[in-house]
Amino acid sequence: MIVAELKPLDQITALLNGYRSILLAGCGECVTVCSAGGEKEVQSLAAALRLWYRHRGVAARVHTVVIQRQCEPEFLAEADPLVAKADCVLSLGCGVGVQFLAERHPQIPVFPALDTKFAGGTVEPGWWGERCGLCGDCILHLTGGICPIIRCSKSLLNGPCGGSQGGRCEVNEEIECAWQLIYDRLKGQGRLEELEAILPPKDWSRARDGGPRRVIREDLRP
Ligand code: SF4
Ligand code: SF4
Repeated sequence: MIVAELKPLDQITALLNGYRSILLAGCGECVTVCSAGGEKEVQSLAAALRLWYRHRGVAARVHTVVIQRQCEPEFLAEADPLVAKADCVLSLGCGVGVQFLAERHPQIPVFPALDTKFAGGTVEPGWWGERCGLCGDCILHLTGGICPIIRCSKSLLNGPCGGSQGGRCEVNEEIECAWQLIYDRLKGQGRLEELEAILPPKDWSRARDGGPRRVIREDLRP
């Protein structure tokens, strides 16, 4: 999932400066799971903003909606009547959701309430970890299902840097050395000999460097 975090309230109120009818739009998918932009967070932020305006004697209206999935146009339609009545929209979706909302309503400013952080998952309650850098050319079959691009602090592809101590990374001892994890995983699977192969330089042409990427499935197109 996409993992995101709420921006500080002072940054959000600065974004909303001068607007008097604000629609907070949450998303029912990833940002709900990572407790950043679901129903609970939308209502909590709405309450904080109403209080903020009341303390300053500002007559602003704050409305709320939670769209099932902000990155799917078919789900955005349900919010159209509410968006039409707003001066601006504060999206609690990830950066993708913000952009899809903004594309659908080019006449209305759509602002991000979240900082979108990474593609990852739940490590334990209240802890989300990065797992994928969306490189477009996955090599997890070579590394025991552990991504060296994201989980090694130096994104090394052919073994450790030599600075690992006790299985911890030399860049940050709070994190595990990815290459120690890869070694342990492949050893446990009886596949250690696979580490002897030298990987060629990675083909980054399928990564972000060529501009915005797209996936087109002709069999699914109208
Ligand atoms: S190799 Fe690329 S696609 Fe696979 S997990 Fe790592 S960053 Fe993601
Ligand atoms: S200690 Fe391990 S995770 Fe850290 S940079 Fe070196 S090889 Fe990568």
